[in-house]
Amino acid sequence: MRFSNRIQQMDTTVLRELLALTAKPDIISFAGGLPAPESFPVEALRQASDLVYRLRGRIALQYSPSSGLPSLREKLARRHQSQGINCTAENFLIISGSQQGLDLAGKVFLEPGDLVLCENPTYMAALSVFRSYECSVMPVETDDEGMIPSDLEEKLTQNPDAKLLYVIPTFQNPTGRQWSLPRRRAVLDIAQRYGLPILEDDPYGALRYEGEPLLSLKSMDSGGLVTYMGSFSKVLSPGIRLGWLLASRELIEKYTSAKECSDLQSSTIAQMTVDAYLESNDLDAHVSEITALYSQRRDRMLSALSDLFPAGTSWTHPQGGLFLWVTLPDWMDTASLLPEMVSRGVAYIPGRDFFANRDERSCLRLNFSSSTEDQIVEGLRIMAQTLRRVM
Ligand code: PMP
Repeated sequence: MRFSNRIQQMDTTVLRELLALTAKPDIISFAGGLPAPESFPVEALRQASDLVYRLRGRIALQYSPSSGLPSLREKLARRHQSQGINCTAENFLIISGSQQGLDLAGKVFLEPGDLVLCENPTYMAALSVFRSYECSVMPVETDDEGMIPSDLEEKLTQNPDAKLLYVIPTFQNPTGRQWSLPRRRAVLDIAQRYGLPILEDDPYGALRYEGEPLLSLKSMDSGGLVTYMGSFSKVLSPGIRLGWLLASRELIEKYTSAKECSDLQSSTIAQMTVDAYLESNDLDAHVSEITALYSQRRDRMLSALSDLFPAGTSWTHPQGGLFLWVTLPDWMDTASLLPEMVSRGVAYIPGRDFFANRDERSCLRLNFSSSTEDQIVEGLRIMAQTLRRVM
């Protein structure tokens, strides 16, 4: 059989195997990016779903508009208006998780051979999506404040035809960092000068444990270049598979055509259930409960790292999100250390695959949302012991 170039670029098997391995019950896994299952509002969603089946079952089981349920889009518009974004329901497309948004951006913007710019490191599944469109991905350097504007400028001077800039400014995956406001402004200014579309991915922004919310790129986007991507996965449930794109009406029209080719529409029943949930529940109150739980887990991870990890290691102090990024001495290779860690009962994701050029070996990503505080301490104790032996 002959396969497309596209599918040959989609090498996600390593990650899939890794996650399967680390999902074993006897392993303390800091590898996935899963929300805590105890955070799911099961009863409230069950009631919402019952209501939908009981009162509007024949509508819920039918096809519905490809752009998404109008009342859900209106609720999202009100939410984002309160965050300073000038928008109406017409600026939204409901999608099947933000992962679909990445794919739709590929369909809308990318031709084979095009160049996509992204943070270094970045969300590894986004790299796979862009490569599946037979594009090259060029990493732009980052530091504690986010993307470094001078590096972006330099890369754009050398590659003025770059097609898309993909960024996660708030509680980034994998580092947990947030961009400072001056960086947000500077990157937006540069993109505007080059007319470069930006895909702003924000699945973690609502999970804030300290500090004040910062303006999204979308809220400062006077030129209509930014597509903002949100998701219910981390604030409600990833299994529901719902997210949204927020962009100019012109862009939403393009994304909607692309979505019609992919899956016609996102599940009517899932949209109606979330819509009914939002009618009778306070999502912000639910998010406060989740953030209370996760901030304790983050604090426990930070204090256990300080207590246990050997000198020469360092880590980020995320103000939100699900991840923390650890850097070991630069001669170490976190991928080759992993089998030993797993055999001792703990797992993480080696940093290498988050770098577009896979050229960094001494970093790793830790997730703190899906382990209990006891598991966090025990897992880090095992990791620290193993590190001390090899360092
Ligand atoms: N973007 C980022 C940065 C992510 O970390 C994830 C998943 N963890 C996604 C997109 C996809 O999420 P979903 O499709 O569940 O909304």
